[in-house]
Amino acid sequence: MLRAQLDTYPILEAFKSGDECPFCFAMRELERRSMEFVVGPSSSYMQRDTRALTDKAGFCRRHLKAMYDYGNFLGDALILQTHQEKLWEEYKAKAAAYKPVRRGLFGIRKKEAGEEKAPEGPSEFSLWLRNRKKKCFLCNRVADSYDRYMETFFYMLKDKDFRPVVEESKGFCLDHFGDVLEYAEKKLPDSLADWFYPTVFGIMEKNMERVKADLDWFITKHDYRNHDAGWKTSRDAVPRMMEKLCGGHPSDPPLKGK
Ligand SMILES: [Zn+2]
Ligand SMILES: [Zn+2]
Repeated sequence: MLRAQLDTYPILEAFKSGDECPFCFAMRELERRSMEFVVGPSSSYMQRDTRALTDKAGFCRRHLKAMYDYGNFLGDALILQTHQEKLWEEYKAKAAAYKPVRRGLFGIRKKEAGEEKAPEGPSEFSLWLRNRKKKCFLCNRVADSYDRYMETFFYMLKDKDFRPVVEESKGFCLDHFGDVLEYAEKKLPDSLADWFYPTVFGIMEKNMERVKADLDWFITKHDYRNHDAGWKTSRDAVPRMMEKLCGGHPSDPPLKGK
């Protein structure tokens, strides 16, 4: 990709947001925009090319729930209608070709006529049923942008004005830190390594300890002897620790359409 095509604004905004993880912040915005693209007020679900893509990929359970919560039920219905039609055609073809397993003595699987040996493992049909859930139009869309965000972040590190913003940020959730390290191991130029590794490990440690101290105080504050003590910065320690450990914003209400 050409550097000129990298949009640095979402990354700069995320690092200045004060979120416990800038990538979680950026992903939330991306999820919101993707949801609006699919079922929002000026959404594209009626456009043939987008519908062809959603029909083919379908949606995972988490995103179907998010589409339901969004509340555009007619949009949901139209998307589900053509997606189900396409899926059911495939289902019927696979169901018609399905060979039930037969077992002989000691439960050993028998081979069918024309087979050299009895097939092992799950059938093609059950694999298809299982793997179908791994495909999701919205997951794919968000993942594509996420890869671009990671590339943009590393590109921006070459800018000496951006590096202090990273130093002042709150580190990453463990999930996104894993991706940051993996990307660095592959692509970080040697000239940045002496700055990069101490900085990211430093902000990870400092900020995990800060959230841990908030969580400790949140628990201590529930002791009746601390009734009159202040909450300090601990009120939202639970969702922030959840974010640090596994990413996301557990205290966000579901995204609703207007
Ligand atoms: Zn994160
Ligand atoms: Zn999904």
